[in-house]
Amino acid sequence: MLITEIKPKEEILAFLKEKKSIFVIQCYGCKEVVYPFDEIQKFLQENSINYVLQDYLCNHEYSKEYINKCKEQIENAEMLLIFSCGVGVQSFSEMLYNNTELKIKGKKVYAGCDTLYVNGFQGLTATEPNCAQCRKCHLNYTCAICPITSCSKSLLNGQCGGVKNGKCEVDKEMDCGWEKIFKKSEKMKDKNCVLDEKIHLHDFKIIP
Ligand code: SF4
Ligand code: SF4
Repeated sequence: MLITEIKPKEEILAFLKEKKSIFVIQCYGCKEVVYPFDEIQKFLQENSINYVLQDYLCNHEYSKEYINKCKEQIENAEMLLIFSCGVGVQSFSEMLYNNTELKIKGKKVYAGCDTLYVNGFQGLTATEPNCAQCRKCHLNYTCAICPITSCSKSLLNGQCGGVKNGKCEVDKEMDCGWEKIFKKSEKMKDKNCVLDEKIHLHDFKIIP
């Protein structure tokens, strides 16, 4: 089982400040995820932010339908703010990014939640992309590609230097996660992504 928690509100608001139009999606998805619906609802109401609700954001078939239905709003929004677990944000971002019909290549997807592990059943949702429920979600500076699970060393501040032809030096069958992050950030021209000046740290003891 896992829990999603709303990120610190100042952090979300600071990010939203410069954006004129945002599109908010809440995923109240599956029973295996505890979702802080009331707290998020209150935050959105207090800040007069409209939202839409969707279930199973990580389900590609549902999300495809959903993107078609909200095509205009998604295209018109400067960024998307998603309240869901780490898998939901990654899946949805990837789906938008690969959608050739929408004019959204440069659209930023922002994660409004952190995902935490609690013991027990993990649900039946497909594990690709993956989330290690690390408690402090880093997707907002990695173009919504998880650095914990897509990099063999779970590096948070860029590539290790061992990558060869796009493949990881630890596992040659695996695409280097940081290579993917860099390429996506280049295509998206996302200045908040990866190459900011902060050093990102993580307490790895809290990962299950
Ligand atoms: S950074 Fe990765 S492991 Fe951590 S919550 Fe986000 S998606 Fe999950
Ligand atoms: S090659 Fe890439 S995925 Fe592999 S450990 Fe280095 S940075 Fe991580």
